[in-house]
Amino acid sequence: MKTLSIIVPCYNEEESVPLFYAETVKQEPFFKEKGVEFEFIFVDDGSRDKTVEQVRALHDKDERVHLVSFSRNFGKESAIIAGLEKSIGDFTVLMDADLQDPPSILPEMYGYIEEGYDSVATRRVNRKGEPPIRSFFARRFYGLMRKISKTEIVDGARDYRLMTRQVTDAILSMHEYNRFSKGIFGWVGYKTKWIEYENVQRAAGETKWSFWKLFLYSLDGIMAFSTMPLSIASFFGIFFCFIAFIFMIFIFVRAMMYGDPVAGWPSMMCIISLIGGVQLLCIGIMGQYMSKLYMEVKDRPKYLVKEEF
Ligand code: UDP
Ligand code: MG
Repeated sequence: MKTLSIIVPCYNEEESVPLFYAETVKQEPFFKEKGVEFEFIFVDDGSRDKTVEQVRALHDKDERVHLVSFSRNFGKESAIIAGLEKSIGDFTVLMDADLQDPPSILPEMYGYIEEGYDSVATRRVNRKGEPPIRSFFARRFYGLMRKISKTEIVDGARDYRLMTRQVTDAILSMHEYNRFSKGIFGWVGYKTKWIEYENVQRAAGETKWSFWKLFLYSLDGIMAFSTMPLSIASFFGIFFCFIAFIFMIFIFVRAMMYGDPVAGWPSMMCIISLIGGVQLLCIGIMGQYMSKLYMEVKDRPKYLVKEEF
């Protein structure tokens, strides 16, 4: 028998957990036939509701249900890594608790693994039911990432992904503290099959992502997978040196021809404030990278476990 570890990050998902379990076990007969057993790993990311109790109730009925419960909310990225670390399966699959990652396509995904793919990833073809402003910024983000990062980050990609042990171990070998899974999946490579499906609405509960949280997450993504912003300073530096050189010649020639009347205060102020602004921006960007570096160097644990079974 082979094992498929189903990893489910949960943050305040007391309503979704039983629904998720009920929907997912429906796929079991297919996998039984193929000689694959399920293992459920629910990662409770510091929920404040009854998520842990719900998982415990499932564990009492079905001993293949496991739990890792964090001491506080560490974020989905930490939940993913904790689940992958605990998993023992020959295959692992990451799924959201809210059934936005339909379990019904698991057999199709497994089919591609049998065909020889190392990993089967999913993406939404549309963003139906999402606020238009959010979709707009999401598209801009992916467009920008394509330009400034060498790692492939696919628009609409979800974290719903079926992987072989080899790919799982590759992901676990990346020890970075600032984790951006969409980039990490692209970075490790391997033969990946993309499956597309229509956006599905949440089964119960509500999304944990505010616009602001998503915006900050996108900045994390840019900094984790591109060093391009760091070169902005050099770019502006060269640009302003060039301008300054032309300006020097202009002032010199003008002074030689017409003398040196004291004028040009407004233009001076404009130039000083512009360059001052650009300098602060560049220092700010360096500060951002430095703060990431600072967290990496501290090497704190990515999560703390309060309870597991
Ligand atoms: N999640 C988590 N920790 C968090 C936020 C979310 O483990 O801090 C889980 C959440 O329980 C869900 C999945 O990550 O299973 C996706 O979250 P959500 O549905 O809120 O995101 P969306 O689908 O709206 O992008
Ligand atoms: Mg969701």
